[in-house]
Amino acid sequence: MSYETERRVAFEAVIKACKLCRAVQAAHLAGGVIDKEDKSPVTVADFGAQALVSDHLAAAFPYDPLVGEEDSALLRQPQNTTLKETVIRNVRTIIPRLSEKDILAAIDRANAAGGPKGRFWALDPIDGTKGFLRGDQYAVALALIEDGLLRLGVLGCPSLPLLSIQGQGGSLFVAVRGQGAFIRDIDRGEEREIRVADIASASEALFCESFESSHSSHDDMSDIVKLLGVRKPPLRMDSQAKYGLLARGDGTVYLRLPTRKSYVEKIWDHAAGCILVEEAGGMVTDLAGNPLDFTQGKTLLKNKGVIATNGKLHDAVMKAVHSVIRDQP
Ligand code: AMP
Ligand code: MG
Repeated sequence: MSYETERRVAFEAVIKACKLCRAVQAAHLAGGVIDKEDKSPVTVADFGAQALVSDHLAAAFPYDPLVGEEDSALLRQPQNTTLKETVIRNVRTIIPRLSEKDILAAIDRANAAGGPKGRFWALDPIDGTKGFLRGDQYAVALALIEDGLLRLGVLGCPSLPLLSIQGQGGSLFVAVRGQGAFIRDIDRGEEREIRVADIASASEALFCESFESSHSSHDDMSDIVKLLGVRKPPLRMDSQAKYGLLARGDGTVYLRLPTRKSYVEKIWDHAAGCILVEEAGGMVTDLAGNPLDFTQGKTLLKNKGVIATNGKLHDAVMKAVHSVIRDQP
């Protein structure tokens, strides 16, 4: 199977969602951040993006389950009528024919549980919500999983220019198992194949980590790069855009270092990014060196942390991670 239809449909779905996210983010930032605690812009974009992706997938693959982060219960509460109406208005600017009922049903379609058997899609409608609110990086991440294996991933990064990490323009990444990884400008243009960086010395590498220190330990990262003699300071960035940077060779290593033992990673935070880096020639494991296990439902229950590299540096980085984490009291 070539997965040509799945690739095209996933692409179209993510582009629609990215359009909505861009519009909501622009309106949010233009209004100035009046109330720092007001998370409603991200809520609107989250629900809106999920509705658009879900509706688009349902038209092409009505029997494919979808695992998404949100359900519409919050929007159905009477006190959230304004929020619901804002979601509906934003979705309709992209697809005018959708009724309120259609939109809520599309959101609720994304209620699958995942697991080891069969085929399902995993969606993070907005990955990197903190970045979205700050006006930094965020991503729409969609992946197809079959019998627990990643088959396809599409990652939309509306604020990540093709050739730099800041400025105008966005990147759209796509990977199908066995077919390589590709990038194109989110708004136009041809796809081109991408590869991870051909770097064999850690000192030359660019390490990437979460912007939020509560998502990945900045202190452990600092010890690891010191131990490896890395010259460049780690790049802090929100969302799976970090996987995108690795796949296109701008970043070399992405570490997710647990800040507390009890946290379990979600499949939608890694599925699209993981296949992208693998198909670009890189490697993705947990801290113990095991592949990420997508058979466990909505979470990566069997994994702790993430080490993503260009492949050549994987063993050296894993050793450094082990020695820093072992040294902890
Ligand atoms: P990032 O932008 O790379 O920091 O990742 C954002 C994702 O981190 C969100 O989608 C959350 O699902 C996830 N997240 C939330 N809390 C934690 C935590 N304590 N440790 C790791 N990831 C987290
Ligand atoms: Mg996320």
